[in-house]
Amino acid sequence: MYRTHTCGELTLNQVGQTVTLSGWVQKNRLLGGMTFVDLRDRYGITQLVFNMERNAPLCEQANALGREYVIQVKGTVAERTNKNPNIPTGNIEIIADELTLLNTSEVPPFLIENDTDGSEELRLKYRYLDIRRPKLKDVLVKRAQISKAVREYLDAKDFIEIETPNLIKSTPEGARDFLVPSRLVEGSFYALPQSPQILKQLLMVAGMDRYYQIVKCFRDEDFRGDRQPEFTQVDCEMSFVHQEDIFETFGGMVRHVFKKVINYELPELNRLKYDDALRLYGSDKPDLRFDCPIVELNQMLPSSEFAVFNNTIQNGGLVAGLNASGCAAYSRKQLDELTEFVKVSHRGLSGLVNIRFNEDGSVKSSVDKFYTEEQLRLIGTAFNAQKGDLILIAAEKTAKVRKSLGDLRLELAKRNNWIDPNKWSVLWVVDFPLFEQDEETGAITFAHHPFCSPHPEDLQYFDTEPLRVRAQTYDMVMNGNEVLSGSIRIHNHDVQEKVFKSLGLTPEEQEKKFGFMLNAFRYGAPPHGGCAFGLDRVVMLMTGGETIRDTMAFPKTSGGRDLMMDAPTPVDKKQLDELGIATKQ
Ligand code: ASP
Repeated sequence: MYRTHTCGELTLNQVGQTVTLSGWVQKNRLLGGMTFVDLRDRYGITQLVFNMERNAPLCEQANALGREYVIQVKGTVAERTNKNPNIPTGNIEIIADELTLLNTSEVPPFLIENDTDGSEELRLKYRYLDIRRPKLKDVLVKRAQISKAVREYLDAKDFIEIETPNLIKSTPEGARDFLVPSRLVEGSFYALPQSPQILKQLLMVAGMDRYYQIVKCFRDEDFRGDRQPEFTQVDCEMSFVHQEDIFETFGGMVRHVFKKVINYELPELNRLKYDDALRLYGSDKPDLRFDCPIVELNQMLPSSEFAVFNNTIQNGGLVAGLNASGCAAYSRKQLDELTEFVKVSHRGLSGLVNIRFNEDGSVKSSVDKFYTEEQLRLIGTAFNAQKGDLILIAAEKTAKVRKSLGDLRLELAKRNNWIDPNKWSVLWVVDFPLFEQDEETGAITFAHHPFCSPHPEDLQYFDTEPLRVRAQTYDMVMNGNEVLSGSIRIHNHDVQEKVFKSLGLTPEEQEKKFGFMLNAFRYGAPPHGGCAFGLDRVVMLMTGGETIRDTMAFPKTSGGRDLMMDAPTPVDKKQLDELGIATKQ
């Protein structure tokens, strides 16, 4: 028997017992005739003591142990004189009587402790060592608990876990497909699923009624933000449901997971309309752990000669601002930093107007020349400005102002610690538009995917004002991150064809890409809807992490490389020949 206990479970209750432990040597140190060894396994760390007087050869042997050697130790549990309150086993130690070396180790390339000295690149290369660090290991354990709680909840609600294939025909989720060449059908390719979207809908046509799957999805995107080319979704679909049923089922699911995994009572989820989210928070995934809404001023600006505001309004733009509460004493430099923040090219504002409501009761602004103090105070009322507040105002095209102020709102929260890290904001954002317009080409494309059902009330705008059509699409937003999206689907063959047509697909293209689906819809497709959770992101948020890389056992770098296995790599010419793929000369 390699062990009677793990390194995380012994307490004062076992004092006097003879035990055997196995694990890795985190460190050993010599101290006044004794050698102390910290022995680590997945469950924790236990201190071993080798006593020179008790057994000199054994002590010598312990002195010679290197970091990460794998050992087995037999000894007696004893109360520690020098207790360590930071670890569960900190009250005891093992007085060792036998030591077996199970394996040696080279000196690891970085410190295998929470505060490590290894760069991320080095740790990705030696990921199996990085996972020995409690921090990373704990996240993987939490991840498994989250998946387990998800399964528990869905199983109890009669969902059935069904696997769908990975070698399929392309499904459109708006990204590029990873392609897999077929050897048997030369010149043809499978696509790896961007999601099992079509397959789960076909399972509804098949009458499976409630499906889920914790599933890998693959999207070949250029690096944008915190993404991985393969990631995990909790993919779900239900038949005979309206949006309300979905909100109840999956709102209930996150609440169950929170209770089970972190013992947190999440309240019922609020809902926010997409239009309101953009208008009030400049984002379709607002972080509502703090307030600070955008205030629109077009309708209430007092008259003045200030051309920037006047022209913006005349040209159909938006004048709006934020109340940076408590920031009236910001220095010139701090204000400049905020101005630079909104001026960077992807935000593109030309500047910010400020009004300070000083602690001494005075009001000062960057547009004193154009507005009287009374007028400035009037503007302040729109923001409920108090002494000590700083109002920041932007004027530009509506979308630009909203996006920039939305970002600025988050930046102010960060700078001023407005976010309580123990607070959660989880909500539904609803009524997304069905279509969106490509900024460059002007072409109309689907906002989520082409299977989302239009809002019945908006069908009237379908041909005339397609951008006005709302979809029965919803997102779940957690602390400012999109963690779920889904929709009620189109189940009617003709409506599906109509949407494909609006997206510019000719009947031939429709047949080629989606013929099998349109055909299935001729055989009694039930009304259905569903969603998919981004498991990695949920795990990241629930474990307080900063990147989804740290929620995966073996992630890729931001450039899509696996540094540990060294992939992707070129392959033999012979393999390419078999696939009928020509190599570049
Ligand atoms: N397939 C969708 C996605 O991956 C989710 C859904 O609509 O169920 O975003």
